[in-house]
Amino acid sequence: MASFLHVLTDFEKQSIGERQSLPERYLGLSDAEMETRITAARKTLGSRVVILGHHYQRDEVFKFADYTGDSFKLARQIASRPEADYIVFCGVHFMAESADVLAAPHQQVILPDLAAGCSMADMATPDQLEASWADLERMGVVTGGGGKAGLVPVTYINSAASIKAFVGERGGTVCTSSNCAATLTWAFERGERVLFMPDQHLGRNTAYKMGMPLDEMVVWDPDQPDGGLEPEAVRRARMILWKGHCSVHTRFSAQQIQSLRDEYPGIRVIVHPEVPWDVVQAADDAGSTEYIIRQVKESPEGSVWAVGTEIHLVNRLAHEVAPDRTVLSLDSLGCLCSTMFRVSPNHLLWVLEELVEGRVHNRITVPDEQKHWNRVALDRMLSIH
Ligand code: SF4
Repeated sequence: MASFLHVLTDFEKQSIGERQSLPERYLGLSDAEMETRITAARKTLGSRVVILGHHYQRDEVFKFADYTGDSFKLARQIASRPEADYIVFCGVHFMAESADVLAAPHQQVILPDLAAGCSMADMATPDQLEASWADLERMGVVTGGGGKAGLVPVTYINSAASIKAFVGERGGTVCTSSNCAATLTWAFERGERVLFMPDQHLGRNTAYKMGMPLDEMVVWDPDQPDGGLEPEAVRRARMILWKGHCSVHTRFSAQQIQSLRDEYPGIRVIVHPEVPWDVVQAADDAGSTEYIIRQVKESPEGSVWAVGTEIHLVNRLAHEVAPDRTVLSLDSLGCLCSTMFRVSPNHLLWVLEELVEGRVHNRITVPDEQKHWNRVALDRMLSIH
């Protein structure tokens, strides 16, 4: 039976202990005032601050970013600005944690709103992983033979620092949607099976695209004893997919694709690989946010696209990146990541003005005991293309 006991994640514990709410004086400001004051604070801070903006951020925040990109691209930017004392990460909590691990010791990472988490990352807790790993050891699939491991753990970058540290310590790595296929190739060179966390869809879609049949994959439910699986099924599997998902990308469906194809004959459909398998099969193409941007940008003028990813990126593609193409959201209502949306220009203004006054709010730090293996796992990620 599934357990309903809620184990607090690192993020929740930190948020409860240290959450700083936006002071009232930062509410109700006009767009023009925020723009003027953010610009002034950045000017005062100069090269001491660098602002990173994920593609799913709202435009009012995104426009202030020095660097924009997906998780992989932003992680690679961290080392490029060693002169910055402060890295203000306009994204979600796990991204700021990775930035803290990759940053130089003098750099401090700030998340403008500490409540900007990720529901997918919260679907894999360290306690669940410890218990699941012990079950897998008991089933005899962790230790391999012939110079290979039995099981290589791979975690999507959308996971807590504690999960990344666990994976790094056990010979595994972190991956992103940009380098997932290369990561699975890397992992299968080193082991017989892969434990893929926390997004079952990214793991399934990528392995399937690489030629692995679905019957070589099983879904591991961390709330069930032995993952809810027969030991024999686990031993036969090559991909053990953690039962996690993105609540935004799982809203897209194959029916939505069919409706748009009926309405717009010749439309091209491109989706992010966090969508379910049948949606990828019904689409024309799938890839990371950077891949989606490239495909739409490089398509002929006048092309018509339906894009299955977060609505802020879709709107930006339609209005700024590729205005000569027609770009529609695959979901007519638009799928919004509510935690990415938590980072508002008001929060950005607050943390920047506090920095001008020499006060650091909403700093994200990964505990020292997790840093080493986290770094190992993230360095492996950055070396795999
Ligand atoms: S879009 Fe999904 S995976 Fe990305 S931050 Fe939001 S909830 Fe997490």
